[in-house]
Amino acid sequence: MALNYTFSIIKPDAFNSGKAGKIVAHLEAQGFVLKAARVMQLSKKQAEEFYAVHRGRPFYGELVEFMSSAPCMPFIVQKDNAVHALRDAIGATDPAEAAAGTVRKLYAESKGRNAIHASDSDENAVREGRFFFAEADSL
Ligand code: ADP
Ligand code: MG
Repeated sequence: MALNYTFSIIKPDAFNSGKAGKIVAHLEAQGFVLKAARVMQLSKKQAEEFYAVHRGRPFYGELVEFMSSAPCMPFIVQKDNAVHALRDAIGATDPAEAAAGTVRKLYAESKGRNAIHASDSDENAVREGRFFFAEADSL
């Protein structure tokens, strides 16, 4: 059975333009339940480690700089089939290609500064959730 929670981050572009509350409200209206959240600025080292899977890609340096440039809001939400549900709700990586009504269509600036991260598999939701939260926080 698919995991009933997933991991997400409101990225610095959205957090610093005051969109965190709107994005959480948007997700709650779709049935996501907030289980854990924090506000923090990632160190460059944390951003490098979190996005290690993208090391070597042309956008990696830009991504690490952006994610460590200002505060962000890592959080965990619960919903049935959470990983798929949240990926649907956030939309395509590039807001220009994101479907109407998705978080990225509504709130993202560009493919790099795209408002929100969401885990792309149950395995990554567990791994990424553990990166930022104690086990007890997500239960
Ligand atoms: P997603 O966040 O939709 O899962 P990826 O895992 O492919 O997308 O990429 C991780 C993040 O790296 C994206 O959310 C985006 O911030 C950044 N990124 C990806 N591709 C590009 C690109 N071509 N140019 C700039 N930034 C990019
Ligand atoms: Mg991804």
